[in-house]
Amino acid sequence: MAHNEWKSVGNGHLEGPVSIPDLDPSKLTITLTDTPKPLPNPEDLVFGAIMTDHMLVSSFDPINGWSAPEIKPYGPFTLDPASSCFQYATNIFEGMKAYIGPDGKPRLFRPEKNMARLARSAARLALPPFNTNALLELIKKLIVIDQRWIPNLEGHSLYLRPTIIGTRPTLGVAASDRALLYVILSPTGPYFRTGPKPVSLFAAAENVRAWPGGTGSHKVAGNYAPGFLPQKEAAKLGYEQILWLLKDESGWKVTEAGAMNIFVVVGREDGDLDVITPPLDGTILPGVTRESILAIVKAHTDGKLCLPGISPTKCLHAHERSFTIADMEVWAEKGQLLEVFAVGTAAVVAPVGRVGFRDDDSKKAIRDLMLPPYEGGMGPIGRAVRTMIIDIQEGRFEWEGWSVACQ
Ligand SMILES: *Cc1c(COP(=O)(O)O)cnc(C)c1O
Repeated sequence: MAHNEWKSVGNGHLEGPVSIPDLDPSKLTITLTDTPKPLPNPEDLVFGAIMTDHMLVSSFDPINGWSAPEIKPYGPFTLDPASSCFQYATNIFEGMKAYIGPDGKPRLFRPEKNMARLARSAARLALPPFNTNALLELIKKLIVIDQRWIPNLEGHSLYLRPTIIGTRPTLGVAASDRALLYVILSPTGPYFRTGPKPVSLFAAAENVRAWPGGTGSHKVAGNYAPGFLPQKEAAKLGYEQILWLLKDESGWKVTEAGAMNIFVVVGREDGDLDVITPPLDGTILPGVTRESILAIVKAHTDGKLCLPGISPTKCLHAHERSFTIADMEVWAEKGQLLEVFAVGTAAVVAPVGRVGFRDDDSKKAIRDLMLPPYEGGMGPIGRAVRTMIIDIQEGRFEWEGWSVACQ
């Protein structure tokens, strides 16, 4: 039975050929650990290296639906070696963060966006649907239980990794009719410990991250492993991250940077600024940070908020529009390419200092496109949107209900 025959309708059951239980927070059981781990020193945190004391788990099978969710001590799973996830990469995940607000309570940033994206990823890999509100409610409970792990320091947070894996234990090449949903938590420090430092990107021509009709717009695990070799090769050439391109009739279109969305800031003849990111054409991961930055840039120009350090009369024009490496070169030659930055939950905004690329007709020569240097490592627009997003995330600035309390 294919999972797309079932639909989560929010009444505690999945609607389909038969009615089976949906994810149900009222059935939650909580088992607390007897051996809480010592908290790490916030200065020593390495991204994703340490997990908290507890995790949230529920499993799905086509007869019993989603099992009663459990919050229990963090620990390993026992899985059949033939499981679909190991053989056919039926794996999806989310990345989100919990922050401590000024009231000392944990909060999430636009978490319904992550839940909706996880549901879309599940549908794309024919994994079972689930009630997104129920999962969010359960995640909030998990965060409150492990709240002591969130360092109460600026720029620190708890990284959440909701995951669903296919657990059908046969080698048949087909949708997984069984799944395991789990959420694990990892305390994190600021992406740039000593302040923003511009990163270097290498524009990859020979490797493509995503293509029309592919899965690039979904957070499916299979999108990431193929990027590790190009990433290593770029590192050998002295670059920190890959700038992913996609060639079409317009040229080498810029799509994303590493596992982050990308923005360029272009100066216009009339003195206004264009703030441009590629459109969601199916090859771009629809980032929550990307969407939030587009919204606050528009809000600045509409006079609804004022970005810190930017004159309220400065006109910023947000665009979702394709651009190519050749466009970036032309803007750079004319002195119009003012800023390039990558955006995502982990770093919020990471400034780009240099982009290496190879000419179409030469296999060897790499040319570097240099961005203007800025005091403090980040240009005014990147800095302004970063400060604004962090102020909203950490609950210092209230905006459109984006920051959601866990309790
Ligand atoms: C997760 C991710 C992003 C950023 O998304 P956010 O919701 O802003 O964290 C961008 N690109 C890729 C490929 C990603 O996996």
